[in-house]
Amino acid sequence: MREGGVRHVSKPAKNGMVHVYTGNGKGKTTAAVGLALRAIGHGRRVFMLQFMKGSKNYGEIIAAEKYLPSFTIVQSGLETFVDRENPSPEDIRLAIEGLETAREVIFENRYDLVILDEINVALDFGLIPLEEVIELIKNRPPEMELVLTGRYAPKEIIELGDVVSEVCLISHPYYHGVEARKGIDY
Ligand code: ATP
Ligand code: MG
Repeated sequence: MREGGVRHVSKPAKNGMVHVYTGNGKGKTTAAVGLALRAIGHGRRVFMLQFMKGSKNYGEIIAAEKYLPSFTIVQSGLETFVDRENPSPEDIRLAIEGLETAREVIFENRYDLVILDEINVALDFGLIPLEEVIELIKNRPPEMELVLTGRYAPKEIIELGDVVSEVCLISHPYYHGVEARKGIDY
């Protein structure tokens, strides 16, 4: 934990930090999308790979296709939820394929910001190997900013993060029986 320390020396920030957005409250994917928008505003190119998601009906996907040529979003998952105890072979295949795509994109080095959305969940569910993700993080191009989102981030991933934020659930309409809202939750 690095919060609260007094900063005596100020030095230029290095580029290419690793962000981890985890925790059980709402706001991880939207934080990553907000960061993407900020980066795009400064002329940067952004790639987001969404693990375990297959629906195109997300506002960020529609907005990126319509208005944001420098924001590429690719999904590698089914539209249905993954059963943590019993993921289907297709869930596993798509997650592994997603990791392969992420690796290619990262090493091609054509993007300034790469977001691996819900990768923490894919790791926690055992869909993809932790060692491979650790290798990917450690060997990424040094200038590349990398974001890993999703609840249940493994401690090894948290330890590799420069910017680590845990979104804590205090309240969510879901627990009052409210269904997901268009433009807010998707
Ligand atoms: P968002 O995409 O809205 O930023 P998130 O990435 O933090 O949410 P996820 O765990 O990926 O959260 O869940 C995605 C969906 O589940 C969103 O529709 C979100 O509103 C909803 N959600 C987030 N947190 C909770 C929660 N604690 N209980 C129920 N639903 C939640
Ligand atoms: Mg999310």
